[in-house]
Amino acid sequence: MKYVVVSGGVISGIGKGVLASSTGMLLKTLGLRVTSIKIDPYLNIDAGTMSPLEHGECFVLDDGGEVDLDLGNYERYLGISLTKDHNITTGKIYSAVIQKERKGDYLGKTVQVVPHITNAIQDWIERVARIPVDPSGMEPDVCIIELGGTVGDIESAPFVEALRQFQFRVGHENFALIHVSLVPVIHGEQKTKPTQAAIKDLRSLGLSPDMIGCRCSSKLEKPTIDKIAMFCHVGAEQVLAIHDVNSTYHVPLILKEQKMINYLTKRLELHKMHIPPLMV
Ligand code: ADP
Repeated sequence: MKYVVVSGGVISGIGKGVLASSTGMLLKTLGLRVTSIKIDPYLNIDAGTMSPLEHGECFVLDDGGEVDLDLGNYERYLGISLTKDHNITTGKIYSAVIQKERKGDYLGKTVQVVPHITNAIQDWIERVARIPVDPSGMEPDVCIIELGGTVGDIESAPFVEALRQFQFRVGHENFALIHVSLVPVIHGEQKTKPTQAAIKDLRSLGLSPDMIGCRCSSKLEKPTIDKIAMFCHVGAEQVLAIHDVNSTYHVPLILKEQKMINYLTKRLELHKMHIPPLMV
């Protein structure tokens, strides 16, 4: 199983969900079976009890799960049907750990965020990633994991730590991270400083970006890409320019033009995978 994590910095609502679904769509064009997990670092068990004025209407899955709208994007972009377990919330993880504690599963131990919560997150991801989500009923090859919120928030800290550990659990060639950042345009100039700061924050938590997704109102200029590559310690081919488009269905094309799949194929050794013909 290959895992592609999409996280975000600078501000929320930056387009992580759209980038994550578009990445999944491009991987699907290689003939891979793609599934997805959305992590929402809030204490609600699910989105059903939250105000639609704040997050938009919740999306209702086939199993009745009331979840974040992003899961609707995944189902539409990837042609899959997800379950409520594909939406991980802080509430679900803590509830599962506390139930185990009451049952006596950790008897004699002090139950802590590290390792009990972080292990529960990793176990949950590994279990849910294997659930068949397309009509073929076969296990997926790739799992896209979107980490909601912004890296550096208190809320997402246990998930960031769990993902830091997870890269070692599954191995380097099975784990890639795309961090999405904002490139604001001030007086006509594309500013890279917020991205530099976001990547510094990410690295300080033990995660290194394999690709940096840069959301910008205009097309990213070559000097901006080179500057981000240099200051963020990545190659220019690892910087993805994602400008504002009229329809988010254009985003997979923008990513394709930038040869994102070539990079991910190398990084995740996708050419070594046995790729069965898709039945959907
Ligand atoms: P996040 O997952 O970071 O909260 P979303 O993927 O839900 O962000 O996107 C937030 C909003 O921005 C959505 O309304 C989405 O349609 C819009 N959006 C995302 N990417 C683009 C883009 N490249 N151009 C225009 N709008 C976009």
